[in-house]
Amino acid sequence: KIEVLSLRKSFGSNEVLKNISLDVAKGGVVALIGPSGSGKSTLLRCINLLVVPDGGSVRVGDTKFEFGTGARLPDVKTLARFRATTGMVFQHFNLFPHMTTLGNVMEGPVTVRRMPKADAEKLAREQLAKVGLAEKADQYPATLSGGQKQRVAIARALAMEPDVMLFDEATSALDPELVGEVLNVIQQLAAEGMTMVIVTHEIAFAREVADRVVFMRDGVVVEEGPARQVIDNPREAATQAFLSHFH
Ligand code: ATP
Ligand code: MG
Repeated sequence: KIEVLSLRKSFGSNEVLKNISLDVAKGGVVALIGPSGSGKSTLLRCINLLVVPDGGSVRVGDTKFEFGTGARLPDVKTLARFRATTGMVFQHFNLFPHMTTLGNVMEGPVTVRRMPKADAEKLAREQLAKVGLAEKADQYPATLSGGQKQRVAIARALAMEPDVMLFDEATSALDPELVGEVLNVIQQLAAEGMTMVIVTHEIAFAREVADRVVFMRDGVVVEEGPARQVIDNPREAATQAFLSHFH
């Protein structure tokens, strides 16, 4: 479960998130859509505290943080533990080039979770199998396709056994023929009941896999509701205008 309340974030004089509230039920899948610069990535980064909000609160599972005047910032250890429970997958995979696929997926469990290597390897192999890459364990990222690299990145996030997964345009950098294999993995996670927030320009995918869609513009939530309702019958003119680019 994710609960974001009255979240605010500015970069200098640029007010990027203006009083954002967002709820994701346990096992729920929310697709976050909106024009470039509307604050989608910043919101995701605030949810796992890669970016520290100026005000409001963020809760993931049982852990809650409040921000703003008087609020104490979490210490580094608390932050690291929290980030480990929120798996983030980016547009660019950021795999370690000098490590094999298996090494990439084991890295977090070994260094952050302090798992014994044998346990971490077992877990990493399970996660690689889950994304369909069991046989690529010993290959280096440079020898993988974009879709395979992105699936390794998903396996790496899953190896931290996160409570929630956050996807920031995980398919935007991929050649069109590689998009499907990554969307399939995300869809499978949804079917297994993973709680997720997915920033995507794949509107048809959002309609299919998300239970709720949130449309953001200029740092505010303009409209939100059941995925099919928002996408097929948006109420707000701004949502209609945005979605008209995809038909
Ligand atoms: P896109 O669809 O292009 O990815 P977005 O909705 O994800 O856009 P954000 O990346 O959240 O938008 O950016 C929102 C605004 O915040 C933009 O004006 C951007 O320039 C600004 N911004 C984001 N990160 C930073 C930063 N680290 N420092 C300064 N400004 C930032
Ligand atoms: Mg973005």
